[in-house]
This record gives sequence, structure tokens and C-alpha cells, in this order.
Amino acid sequence: MPLVETDAIVLHVFDYSETSRILRLATRDAGLQSVLARGARRSKSRFGSALDLFAEGAAQLQLKDGRDLQTLASFDVTRSRSELGEDMGRFVGASALAELVLRFSGADDVSVALFEALADAMDNLAAAQHAVAMEATLSGAWRLVAEMGFAPSIDSCASCHALIDAAGDLPFSHTAGGVLCERCARLYPGGRRLPLDARRAIADWSQGRRLADCDERAAKAHQRLLREFLQEHLADGRPLRAFDAWEQGALVAR
Ligand SMILES: [Zn+2]
Repeated sequence: MPLVETDAIVLHVFDYSETSRILRLATRDAGLQSVLARGARRSKSRFGSALDLFAEGAAQLQLKDGRDLQTLASFDVTRSRSELGEDMGRFVGASALAELVLRFSGADDVSVALFEALADAMDNLAAAQHAVAMEATLSGAWRLVAEMGFAPSIDSCASCHALIDAAGDLPFSHTAGGVLCERCARLYPGGRRLPLDARRAIADWSQGRRLADCDERAAKAHQRLLREFLQEHLADGRPLRAFDAWEQGALVAR
């Protein structure tokens, strides 16, 4: 049974039997993996407390071809990111980012670039004050979307690809996958209009940059836009539970 060593981030944890846990891992070198951590619930587990949600570590996986559930041999934590569990805004944000990767990337789709974008996003969020946790989550989410290859078109028409250089609002269509020139906008009814600052924010976030200034109203509008965009690009139509909690969690925290 080949033993694969790779960096991994814990995206989901649930108990399995009296003694074990099943984890969903995003790995640097082996895509998304579901693994069984035998004995992880025992008080003297060899995994210790390393297998917490959002922790990153050096994992050893025993991979068998054709299996959905693989075996986790060891996990040496390098970043626990315990800060994510200490603030509701950070926690629901990290959960939404984890869901994004679990739902949108296939088992073989997690590239090194996507893994690093996820690690950066989790680090940024772990370091974020409560007031900027939503902006840090939006930034991480758009960067993940970009790394997964479906970033919206922002500078050119998503339909005819003509460059658009406008200071004012532009039509934006989730179906088309970005901004539209006025001529093409007629082909995509039901879109919305996006002001320049919102377009710049999405472009910046998609490239991993952070916004110094993003007030709560703007952040909430971006949250809605991101949800609509993800719904459009999700084929299965199942609800995004963690994303919903992120949207509602921000309301509860007011
Ligand atoms: Zn066009």
C-alpha cells in the first residue's frame, strides 16, 4: 500500500465508531481525500489534538486504488489555527471557505496553487480582527474561485470579449460569467449592475489582495453577489449550508 506524504488541511471532521474519526482533507499533492483516523477519539491517541478543524499539518496517507475512504497514518500539525474557533465571524467564514473547496473541486482538482490559496485564506482569516473577518473571507473565497478556474470576467465582456473601460456601473450576469457590454447585456436579462468599486474589489480579491476599506454594507452586498455567483456555477443545486451560516452569522453578530 503506497504511503504518500503531503501537507494537508482538515476541512471536515466527524466521529466514526467509538474510537475513530473520518476527515475530509485538502492536500497539496493528492487532491481531496476522505481518510479514516483510527483511534483518533481515544484519550491517548497518536494523533493527539492535532486533528482539529482547519488545522494544517504534514500527513501520511495510505492510499489504495479504487477506495473512497483512505487511511491516515499520521498527522504532524504545523498550524493549528485555533484562532478560527475563538471568534464566530472567523469560524463561520472558515467554514464557508472549506465548503467552497469541498463542493467545487473534485478529488483530483486540488492543485498546489489551490492548496496554497486555501492555506493563505485560512491564515489571513485566523489573523483577522472580528470587524474584518467578513472581508478576509470574501477575499479568500474569490481567490479560491479564481484558482478553480471560474473567476468572473471583469475587464472585458463575458460574452463578446470586447474590452470594457467604464468608470460607471456595468451590467453583470452570473449566467454569462461576468460583466457585459451594453449590446450583449440585452441577451442576458435578469442581471444586475455592478459599480466600479465593486468590480475592482472582486478583481483585487481574485488575485489575493486585501481591501483596506470595506464597510459592512459593501461586504453584505458582496456576500449576496458571491452567493448568487456560486449558485449559478453549482450544478447540483444542493444548499450551501456553511455559506448560509456565514451570511446569517454576520446578522446574529450585529
Ligand atoms: Zn459584449
